[in-house]
Amino acid sequence: MSRPLLFLDVDGPLNPYAAKPERRPEGYTTIRVALHPGRPLRVWLNPSHGPALLSLPYDLCWATTWMDAANRWIAPVVGLPELPYVDFGDRLLTHRPDGVHWKTEAIVAYAEGRPFAWVDDEQSPADEAFVAEHHPGPALLHHVDPRIGLRERDFAMLRNATLT
Ligand SMILES: [Mg+2]
Repeated sequence: MSRPLLFLDVDGPLNPYAAKPERRPEGYTTIRVALHPGRPLRVWLNPSHGPALLSLPYDLCWATTWMDAANRWIAPVVGLPELPYVDFGDRLLTHRPDGVHWKTEAIVAYAEGRPFAWVDDEQSPADEAFVAEHHPGPALLHHVDPRIGLRERDFAMLRNATLT
């Protein structure tokens, strides 16, 4: 039996970028990433998140603007192995007039009907509707507050979700 997929965003769930900037949240470490020329990006990451995610009954997959760069910059710090990732191609950050998030169609295509949870800080009712219409299997769109990031209650909810 294959397990459900867990599509994992970085900025929001793992990096609580919207927390008060002068105060790093407890349990987090800071990395500075120079993905582009200019000022390096400050990223807060929690080394307890990887083990907590790996303990869940899902197959993990990145679904983030970082795409494969998440394996280089994020995975080693949070304690995750190299993971597959959704390649958004030219949909990356491309606004849709129907209000559906630019990630959603690619995530549904990647899942190919397999049950999934999607952990992100940016889903909306338009995404719920899109997934309900285009994805034949069970799906859980789990929203995480980007001021807070993933917490034990999120892991408990994902652990107890019935997606098979
Ligand atoms: Mg995000």
